[in-house]
Amino acid sequence: MDHVLLRARWCALFALVLTSCASAEVRNARPEERRRIIEAFGPLLYAAHGSQIERCRVDTAVIDEPTYNVWMIGLPDAPCDLALLVTASAIAQLTPRALQTLLAHEFGHVYRQHAIGRARAREILSARTGSGQRSVLRTSHEQFTPEEEVQADEAAAHLLTVAWRTNVGCLGTADVYEDIARDRTLWGAWLSRHPLPERRVGALVNTCERERRRLR
Ligand SMILES: [Zn+2]
Repeated sequence: MDHVLLRARWCALFALVLTSCASAEVRNARPEERRRIIEAFGPLLYAAHGSQIERCRVDTAVIDEPTYNVWMIGLPDAPCDLALLVTASAIAQLTPRALQTLLAHEFGHVYRQHAIGRARAREILSARTGSGQRSVLRTSHEQFTPEEEVQADEAAAHLLTVAWRTNVGCLGTADVYEDIARDRTLWGAWLSRHPLPERRVGALVNTCERERRRLR
């Protein structure tokens, strides 16, 4: 696809979650980048959809930004079609497990069908006409509610445990969150739309243990 068209398509998909979309370099994943994404994300997709994944279309693009970030949305009217946007730095520099952690969390939002982007803007708009939903009003279109973040962590813990058949991958997520808490360089944009990682570790470790017990 033509470069300008490609950017226009991805910016339309993610317009409300990408503040710098107009100037961002969005491009197709190179073969090596594609391989890393598939290695990290394939097992999660399989954990969610099993043999149905043959029917899932995962559109992937890379954004050339020197930060670590991942965005994911479920495409409407197709139960497992996804659009996935990853920063080049996240693919090139994160360990496979850290990349899988980020993908698992974002996939957790999709898995739990949290509204994002345009759908989220509509949700906020409709909350304005209702009453007693001011907490929704305060939610930026870029951010999920704290409750949704917990749900996404739980879904990620479930998918990672199914994918790994042990809770090693799940507990690895807690390690990644601790690493982020220790060195926030390059995580600014990601942190701006997520709860502090150090506050998520305790609950996550408990969830990993619960998921391990559910395995058999
Ligand atoms: Zn989240």
